Amino acid sequence: MKQKETLLNTMEIDHTGFEELGEEHVGTSLETPLREDAFEMDDELKIELIEKHFREIMHIMGLDLNDDSLKGTPHRVAKMYVKEVFSGLNPKNKPASKLFENKYNYKEMLVEKDITFFSHCEHHFVPIYGKAHVAYISKGQVIGLSKINRIVQYFSKRPQVQERLTMQIGNELKDILGTEDVAVIMDADHMCVSSRGINDTNSSTVTSFYSGKFEHDEQARNEFLKYIHLKK
Ligand SMILES: [Zn+2]
Repeated sequence: MKQKETLLNTMEIDHTGFEELGEEHVGTSLETPLREDAFEMDDELKIELIEKHFREIMHIMGLDLNDDSLKGTPHRVAKMYVKEVFSGLNPKNKPASKLFENKYNYKEMLVEKDITFFSHCEHHFVPIYGKAHVAYISKGQVIGLSKINRIVQYFSKRPQVQERLTMQIGNELKDILGTEDVAVIMDADHMCVSSRGINDTNSSTVTSFYSGKFEHDEQARNEFLKYIHLKK
């Protein structure tokens, strides 16, 4: 376990280029950029340190941390970060995916639509939330339906960019199910767009991942699109 004192040493960051990025939401890689020592500290120490630093942020902003309503906030935020909204950073929280044999030999696509997800924009640390729609065509194995929700939620519970999130879910389903035939569409509202900055509350962002038949067969892709738009 890491000592508390080492935290600041690991926080030396190259600040050049921050301003060029500005409001552009660009991601740098398919993998979430984690350090190798990301999980050397346990959750309890992470909560303790985040709490300390969040208290400092509130103090700098001039808030009175002796106020009954505010004094629990640093701990609440720290616990929420580690145990809830960013719990998907830690591979130990990855859902185990039990597969079943496709005994009934179902050959068509399976679509699970309108999966609710909550994530956070990694550039502003404010929520991204919306619906995910997932499809796959079995190559002999099937997965429990709620596991698809869990996979979507696991990758959502990280600081994210929507493009990466969509690809991470698609690639994970390909790996687990042993099929190339996977599609993911995510339609989301970004609070960094709606509640600040450009303050646009109407726009939403749609990203897609098409692999195998969904990439090459227009009919398969259109069938998927038709299903997910039924309710709209
Ligand atoms: Zn943002």
